[in-house]
Amino acid sequence: MRILVVEDEPTLRAQLVAAIAHAGHTVEEAGDGAAADYLGSVEAFDAAVLDLGLPVLDGLSVLRRWRAAGRAMPVLVLTARGAWHEKVAGMDAGADDYLAKPFHMEELLARLRALLRRLSAHASAEWRCGGILLDTRQARVLVDGQPLSLTSHEFKLLSLLMQRKGEVLSRTELSEHLYPQDCDRDSNTIEVFVGRLRRKLPPDSIETVRGLGYRLVEAGAPEQS
Ligand code: CA
Repeated sequence: MRILVVEDEPTLRAQLVAAIAHAGHTVEEAGDGAAADYLGSVEAFDAAVLDLGLPVLDGLSVLRRWRAAGRAMPVLVLTARGAWHEKVAGMDAGADDYLAKPFHMEELLARLRALLRRLSAHASAEWRCGGILLDTRQARVLVDGQPLSLTSHEFKLLSLLMQRKGEVLSRTELSEHLYPQDCDRDSNTIEVFVGRLRRKLPPDSIETVRGLGYRLVEAGAPEQS
């Protein structure tokens, strides 16, 4: 996933970037509020780690601007130790979680993982995977900007795959998601739905992981400029 790290203290910023990249993410960084505001507004991120005490433009203002611009990615704010008012203000401005400095990098990574898992809780989020865009508000899907017609089962299946993109999902997990009420699930049915969905998506979007299940990957994504 793409994560934006905003921290003005160079040593801490470098540590954050290294740890998050090591966890398998693509990381962009900003060292002041204006750069953060710009990056967060023009580029799509799956989550951001945002220090509140920043030069040029403070973190709270950055967060308010992102939210006002419709940017719904989960944001983990970093606050000064004991500054409870910063936590409150951060949550009010649209932060999803906070962590007081100093913190253990392991805890930051755990919080970040939790936020990424909770992406589905963002009612206004648009999820992207390569050329695929899923608008959860309007329950519609665009591929390279063109609307894609999906049945409700295909849509549910794609939602789960996008929510957990890059992760392998078993047939059992997928069928539980598709038929929560049905005690007579048949994993062969999942193969049929996956097959249909696969034909509608860009080639190689859904990988079969032998013996384990399926995984959504970025296929044919345009090069990042
Ligand atoms: Ca700071």
